[in-house]
Amino acid sequence: MLIYATHAGGRYLPLAESFAVQPEGKRSFYMNITNHCNCACTFCLRQKKKMAEASTLWFHGAEPTVEELKAAIAGAPLDRAKELVFCGFGEPTMRLEVLLTLLAYAKSLAPALPTRLNTNGLANLEYGEDVTPRFEGILDTISISLNASNAQRYYELTRAKYGMESFDGMLDFAVRAKAHVPHVVLTIVDQVEGPEEIARCRELCEERGLTLRVRPYEAN
Ligand code: SF4
Repeated sequence: MLIYATHAGGRYLPLAESFAVQPEGKRSFYMNITNHCNCACTFCLRQKKKMAEASTLWFHGAEPTVEELKAAIAGAPLDRAKELVFCGFGEPTMRLEVLLTLLAYAKSLAPALPTRLNTNGLANLEYGEDVTPRFEGILDTISISLNASNAQRYYELTRAKYGMESFDGMLDFAVRAKAHVPHVVLTIVDQVEGPEEIARCRELCEERGLTLRVRPYEAN
């Protein structure tokens, strides 16, 4: 499933089914481009391999090509989308060139449609350079998983490929993104961390001029 919408009960539905179930109103369109990730978060459904493979968000065999993904965007009723979100069942920046191509393509088809990227914020570490300028003009919101208030806890939860450096790399990515993306939001899941840890995350974001959003836990 390349583009889907979310429904009550944590259900993911392909767009046609989504509009059949709920014909009225705009909704967020979610785009799934990869199952790969440079983290192995303890709470990620990808860790429960059997469940993940049974999901319609899991790509069996090859991942979709950029042409297939462009065709999915062109064929979607974009006039009925509230926003186009790149999130998927993996980390979208693992396919950075594809992601950038699709963001630009979506903007060319529907310039007023807001775009959002949900990311772990590790792309600068992954590519060894600052990639945030490449989002200029094609990305409206970047939502970065903060997960924790310190490097140790972050690493325990995410088991990120870059080890203890990952936390600072993610925060640096967030600060740099502010110069190129209108809305930069850091997120933490309410049930994973307690109120004290969430308060520390809030302070850390305030110090850097970043917005924190505490979001409810979704069992993927
Ligand atoms: S960053 Fe996202 S996709 Fe990657 S392991 Fe963590 S929760 Fe899963």
